[in-house]
Amino acid sequence: MTNLATAPALEGFASLNLITPICKAVQEEQYVNPTPIQLKAIPYLLRGRDMLACAQTGTGKTAAFALPILQRLSKSERGPRSKGIRALVLTPTRELAVQISENFEIYGRHLRLRHLVVYGGVSLGNQVRLIKRGVDILVATPGRLLDLIRQGHLRLNEVELFVLDEADRMMDMGFLPDVRTIEAKLHPERQSMLFSATLPAEIEKLSKQFLKDPVKVVVDPPSSTVEKIDQRLLYVDRENKSALLETVLQDESIERALVFTRTKHGANKIAKNLSKSRIRAEAFHGNKSQAARTLALEKFRSGKARVLVATDVASRGLDVDGITHVINYELPNEAANYVHRIGRTARAGATGVAISFCDAGERFFLRNIQREIQKDLDVIGGHPFPAKIAPVKSGKKRGGGAEKKNGAPQRAKRNNKPAKSTGWKPGKYSAKKKPGFKGRPSKSRD
Ligand code: AMP
Repeated sequence: MTNLATAPALEGFASLNLITPICKAVQEEQYVNPTPIQLKAIPYLLRGRDMLACAQTGTGKTAAFALPILQRLSKSERGPRSKGIRALVLTPTRELAVQISENFEIYGRHLRLRHLVVYGGVSLGNQVRLIKRGVDILVATPGRLLDLIRQGHLRLNEVELFVLDEADRMMDMGFLPDVRTIEAKLHPERQSMLFSATLPAEIEKLSKQFLKDPVKVVVDPPSSTVEKIDQRLLYVDRENKSALLETVLQDESIERALVFTRTKHGANKIAKNLSKSRIRAEAFHGNKSQAARTLALEKFRSGKARVLVATDVASRGLDVDGITHVINYELPNEAANYVHRIGRTARAGATGVAISFCDAGERFFLRNIQREIQKDLDVIGGHPFPAKIAPVKSGKKRGGGAEKKNGAPQRAKRNNKPAKSTGWKPGKYSAKKKPGFKGRPSKSRD
């Protein structure tokens, strides 16, 4: 098949020798250039090499494995046999599984390949019926996949391509034994890819077991994305947080806000309170049924809900376009989760604002967060619920002002408008700061 070597807008992707239907789909998605992980990974993967890739969500890693998989599958005439799978993508959460599957749908829209996503918490019947016909690409969470195998509904011995996505998170969630069981059922002559945001020793060990002579590819975390986010801090007493949230949300420039709480109960309570105050809000956490989670996300995506109140289950992987603000109602107790949370805004070239509430009991978490991101958050004073909390100063500013290499993808038209969102104009409780917030945080908070 031909590639689009002559299409100037696709120079970047065409140089990767991707076939026309894939280039066309990518172009329709407004992607102009491949991201660093795509540039590094795709040529090797098209040649059939195994790969150990260290890349985070937000770097464009899904396309990095999805495009070569689509291309390799489309080159072979042979479709899947009944109950057979040609490419398997294992991923830790239902939301990630759905997102990856949506990406296959988008990138593969001009190809005739069958893909399916399976995860727990929904009935097996429909999934079983679709698998019976055979599936080119199956995206699955480990538990549901094992259920399907044990009940004899699918076979993995024909898998030609295998992706283990978010391997470090699989490990954190205790899925590695399941993953090992699944891997043992795969055909030994397959191409395998292991993607992980970090490479702890356990993952390196796993990669030796799963991969044959792998190419190792490492890209910078999209820290530049984090640098694009205006990160603001409001000191507030715990009992005033709810009222402060409502006040902040009066600001109409907050078009779509993701609010994080530490507990599921807290998420429910806040969503309920906001709804009572006529702010359209939905709760999203692991105690909700899959159907309720999907519905909440759908309302948030479509704009029916302006606010999604979530626990950290939404802090990684969630890819909703146009989240203008992330609000940390409570600070996460793990600093890394702060970075994951705020990375839900400023996706795909857009900019965004992160607003964190900090009460006296959270000063320790704040210190750790500022150390992690190596800078102090910009303290916003002048809001109606000021608290007398000694400011936490702990981060180092990144020196030099040199541009960090940008690992984050940029879209052509959508999502990279000059950021309306950067200009969160905090109304009457505004800090006396210019947009951009390059300076040091102010000492006084009021
Ligand atoms: P991922 O890291 O796979 O979760 O991708 C993060 C976001 O970047 C998703 O919204 C993708 O649609 C988008 N994306 C992936 N590759 C590109 C690209 N080459 N150009 C622009 N956006 C991209």
